[in-house]
Amino acid sequence: MKNIVVVGAGAAGLASAETLRREGFTGRLTLVGEEPTLPYDRPPLSKHVLAGTWDFTRTLLREKDHYAQLDVELRVGRRAIDLDLPGRTLLLDHDEPLAYDGLVIATGVTPRRLPFGHELDGVHVLRGEQDALRLRAALTGQPRVVVVGAGFLGMEVAAVVSGLGLDVTVVDPLPTPMVRQFGPAIGALIARLHSDHGVQVRTRTGVTDLLGSDGRVTGVQLDDGTVQPADCVLVAIGAAPEVGWLRSSGVQLGNGIQCDEYCQAAPGVYAAGDVASWPSPRYGRRLRLEHRMNATEQGTAAARNLLHGNVEAFDPVPYFWTDQYDVKIQAHGVFPDGARPQVVEGSPASGRFVALYREDGRTVGALGWNSARQVREYRNQLAEGPVSGGAK
Ligand SMILES: Cc1cc2nc3c(=O)[nH]c(=O)nc-3n(C[C@H](O)[C@H](O)[C@H](O)COP(=O)(O)OP(=O)(O)OC[C@H]3O[C@@H](n4cnc5c(N)ncnc54)[C@H](O)[C@@H]3O)c2cc1C
Repeated sequence: MKNIVVVGAGAAGLASAETLRREGFTGRLTLVGEEPTLPYDRPPLSKHVLAGTWDFTRTLLREKDHYAQLDVELRVGRRAIDLDLPGRTLLLDHDEPLAYDGLVIATGVTPRRLPFGHELDGVHVLRGEQDALRLRAALTGQPRVVVVGAGFLGMEVAAVVSGLGLDVTVVDPLPTPMVRQFGPAIGALIARLHSDHGVQVRTRTGVTDLLGSDGRVTGVQLDDGTVQPADCVLVAIGAAPEVGWLRSSGVQLGNGIQCDEYCQAAPGVYAAGDVASWPSPRYGRRLRLEHRMNATEQGTAAARNLLHGNVEAFDPVPYFWTDQYDVKIQAHGVFPDGARPQVVEGSPASGRFVALYREDGRTVGALGWNSARQVREYRNQLAEGPVSGGAK
């Protein structure tokens, strides 16, 4: 193989490029990324960058000269717009063809939007550098903030906003925050954590419209008939795989790029990170994870399999964390619908605990609440053998 292209210059794309060099690839290596910046880390955007304690440059994953040392041709500010699979050629914007022998696709996800209201000033989403800087700037004007969506991103932002002393309300039709990730019991603890910090958590409440005046948002119309006044709205209702540019390529798409267990999507084509779905041998079903650790692990695995010829199935125990106020939640494994957490160390009342999630008599998930070290000790139990049933 003489010429490898990696599309998507985030954590997964960078891990692929570095792995290729580390494992002996000496040919031409190109990293294409739509955003104009060097690859950076997203988790600090909703934490330190939004809080104003980190300058954006601190999120850069590597210094500029690292890419020269790696002998990677960095094409940032360029978007891939089409893929010719039989011709092994990528089409970049301005109709520039880019041939490859091997391709890694790591184009991530894009925030979902409400079907209304995004044209109003003061309505935000949060995925990239520019989103974070815009939202941060909006917070300096003492706005009343409404967060639509009580997933991890919405709750992290609510924590930061309330830490800045601003009024913040979170709205979600589901019964508790983060119920999809961790179920209602942990969700109730997260709701309490936020209420204790003065956040209004309005669960079981949907949004039917965003209201505005003179082009600026003024409120959020709720499905109980009330209006929540707002000068700043963050829409955090999940994200969709960035695959629109592949629609006519013949790459199999579903919930993301449908890879095999080696992260292979087509001859010479692999995918990694938030955009990639693969059949997990361990969990007996397809996974697509939007987790920072997975981006690096899968980027590494995809690069190895591309370079050496499908040497190892990708089969990690997923890992995810979220920071809200002084609470750090670490989650290893999977957290199936209906699996009940059982506290095995500490207690919610003490502010530190480990909870295990079981399914079909097996432990499949371990959650640590301010217990990073303790929860890691349960990780080995999760790494054993395949499990049947659901996984997230
Ligand atoms: C604000 C925020 C906070 C987060 N916090 C946490 C956390 O606390 N814990 C955790 O585990 N995870 C967290 N995550 C998730 C984690 O950051 C992601 O899982 C990870 O960044 C995924 O990396 P990736 O390389 O797959 O995708 P990305 O980082 O999204 O990179 C994909 C890149 O591809 C580019 N691209 C897209 N389409 C094209 C195209 N057609 N051509 C060229 N380039 C393209 C995009 O512009 C982007 O730069 C957070 C995410 C966000 C947004």
